[in-house]
Amino acid sequence: MSARPDELDRSATALRGDGAYPESQVSYGGSTYWLERSADGAKRLVTVADDESAFRGFSGTAEPIEGRARFVADTTPDNAEALRLALPWLNPSRFGLHTSAGFGDRLGLATPGHVRALKTVGAAINPVFAQQSIREMGRCRRTPRDVLDDATWGAFQAGWTQPVGGDADHLEQLEDIDDTTAAGFAFYTLDPKAEVDPEAEHADPATIQLKVEALDWAGLDSDLVTFTKRYAGERIDLEHQAIELDEESVLRAMAKYGPSLAHSMAMYRRLMEKGIDCEVEFAVDETDYPTKPAEHIVVVSELKRLGMHFVSFAPRYVGRFEKGVEYIGDIDELQRDFEIHAEIARALGPYKLSLHSGSDKFSTYPLIAAATKGLVHLKTAGTSWAEALRVIAHNDPDLMREVLALALTSFEANRKSYHLSCDPRKIPTDPTDDEVARLMDVVDSRQVLHVGYGAILEEFGTQMYRVWNANEEEHYGIIADHFVKHLTPFASYAR
Ligand SMILES: [Zn+2]
Repeated sequence: MSARPDELDRSATALRGDGAYPESQVSYGGSTYWLERSADGAKRLVTVADDESAFRGFSGTAEPIEGRARFVADTTPDNAEALRLALPWLNPSRFGLHTSAGFGDRLGLATPGHVRALKTVGAAINPVFAQQSIREMGRCRRTPRDVLDDATWGAFQAGWTQPVGGDADHLEQLEDIDDTTAAGFAFYTLDPKAEVDPEAEHADPATIQLKVEALDWAGLDSDLVTFTKRYAGERIDLEHQAIELDEESVLRAMAKYGPSLAHSMAMYRRLMEKGIDCEVEFAVDETDYPTKPAEHIVVVSELKRLGMHFVSFAPRYVGRFEKGVEYIGDIDELQRDFEIHAEIARALGPYKLSLHSGSDKFSTYPLIAAATKGLVHLKTAGTSWAEALRVIAHNDPDLMREVLALALTSFEANRKSYHLSCDPRKIPTDPTDDEVARLMDVVDSRQVLHVGYGAILEEFGTQMYRVWNANEEEHYGIIADHFVKHLTPFASYAR
């Protein structure tokens, strides 16, 4: 169904320059493409075809070579778009219910490492290389188009010829839909966390009553009486258990999530008006209290009733999913939580369960892979940035000391909107080279550096990119090793 490369035109291989990435070479539609890196570190697209008409859509320079035409183009946004048109598998597409993984990349450099991990694991895990939240794009000064284009060049460089996704992640406002659809993403994560009401968790029944009466029922296309009748007293039979919906929990669920449903539907309608080929995830993971089974049922049933089609749902699971570190909590309780949410997802959907803040939670992967039977999306974001800092620490410890100092002084501002438990006072302020080398292995420094990316890149970005570009093989190797550990537990369930 989806486009696949042609057999490789080996006669073009002789025309490759010294700086070519051999794995990038691919033939399609009569042309052969590869990426080259020149001595100055700049990357350029090279294309060889029988005549120049093959280069329409790209901007660059053409020259005749051995009876054919050779074309060299800079890695500009326009050429990235032309490349997605020329090699259709680089254009983000929908994955539906297939097992998938998101590889957020704050730097726009990590995709070749991600590709290497996927090729090593060799399972049917569908990658979303282009994925960044609105919050992160703001702090990294990247546009949605930058995110998409960097992932395109990275996937091309590393020779990825399977479908790719593209996740406009953690969209919170209506305008976020406009900004990201213009760039060409295929996967939209609706994240109405600001509209989820944490007070409803413990409020007394009279307060709950006031909260549900005050809901925007017109926006929810219903009224309180009809809503209550629809769910109170219902019993949902799952594979291994049944969930009884009593009036109290149904009203509390609606007090907690009702405002977020109305807001998400507004975002969803805005997205549907664009008429683009895409899919949707609904996420409430970054909220204060775990999503209870009854809440999962009410939320999803209401979204379906209101007409939202979504392929995945990210509840807030029990325990703590902090940035860049292992799961914190009772792992047996988490396993039961995964199992019940997965049973609900099969009963009401099926749809995938999504695991956000999913990086570095190695103990959780076998559990969610088994509970969902592969109906799962793993979403990682900042861990690629955290791992990239190893390259800085290894090659320029002095720069890393400056980076750490800035991360510490700016920590209170950086930590806003992130769940963390690190203690900056435990981090050495003047670390030795050995301590610098271990900064990314210790929870306190790993988290402080993990959330410091905005301030760090603003101040030291130019120097840091120079180090990454001079050591890209080391960088890709570190990323690949780290992601093999993320993906392997999903491999036997991938579908
Ligand atoms: Zn999330």
